[in-house]
Amino acid sequence: MVRIPVLAIHGGAGTINRAALSPEAERGYRDALRAILEKGREALADGASALDAVTLAVSMLEDCPLFNAGRGAVYTSAETHELDAAIMDGETLRTGALSCVHGVKNPIRAARVVMEQSPHVLMTGDGAMAFLRARGVEFMPDAYFDTEQRLEQLRLAQAVRPDAMVLDHDGAAAGKMGFAGNPLDEKTKMGTVGAVAMDAQGRLAAATSTGGMTNKLPGRVGDTPIVGAGCYADDGVAVSCTGSGEYFIRLVVGHDVAARMRYQGAALDDAVRAVLERVGALGGTGGLIAVDREGNVSLPFISEGMYRGCVRGNETARVAIYGAEDEDC
Ligand code: ASP
Repeated sequence: MVRIPVLAIHGGAGTINRAALSPEAERGYRDALRAILEKGREALADGASALDAVTLAVSMLEDCPLFNAGRGAVYTSAETHELDAAIMDGETLRTGALSCVHGVKNPIRAARVVMEQSPHVLMTGDGAMAFLRARGVEFMPDAYFDTEQRLEQLRLAQAVRPDAMVLDHDGAAAGKMGFAGNPLDEKTKMGTVGAVAMDAQGRLAAATSTGGMTNKLPGRVGDTPIVGAGCYADDGVAVSCTGSGEYFIRLVVGHDVAARMRYQGAALDDAVRAVLERVGALGGTGGLIAVDREGNVSLPFISEGMYRGCVRGNETARVAIYGAEDEDC
């Protein structure tokens, strides 16, 4: 049976409020989300697989200067960048992930190389980079990933508390720590990006990519490349997460959504709400995007906002940033 394809994307969740974004910046984010959804919609209409659609959408989010999961990634406490990414094909359960790599221009494409060209699921650090170089994956000089505002963010975090780890886009956390500036103004860009899709054959896929959290210890691995935590897809649902990664790992969020649907028969909305409630109860924050095998989409978050959008078949793409918007999916 031919299905109406669906694509949903996110550019990170956090304390995103109207005061923090100028109207021009807000328009910029909405236009960028819409343009990426349109490209993905065209690809799915042309017969692209869900896997190709999420690869395309996340690599565009990585390249977009507003959603810097690749370029402009946050700094570790040692003033370096360490990128994490994962991709999963729900039909076959094939998956590929990378952690703690640097210089990789499009971590999501590189995660797909791990999936398709290695016998492994998760590769990390120097070994992963040597493997990727040998496979011809595109690298950029480390300076390509350096940005002044990221360095400033790191210095602020370290000045308040040397061991504090900060969600790139969480103004509330920063406020509690006594930050003078709002880390959500247009100068401070998003960290994690993600996509989930169902294609015309009903296949599901998920992809997530991030620079992680500001001031993380070198070697810290977040939820993004942990298959089942920040990224998961099977034949029932595809999930991509954003938020305080340690909590998403502890609750194995992506897989918990899928398990609730598979074993409890839970509806998508009920499954995602129950899982995010647990994240909040534990002290975490963030959100996720998910699409199920019927093409239902859910984009819930327990933070103030989440850069998000979705497109279904030939319908116009819908995007939202703050809580409860008319245009929401
Ligand atoms: N989940 C990511 C991490 O913990 C951060 C984010 O979503 O911005 O690495």
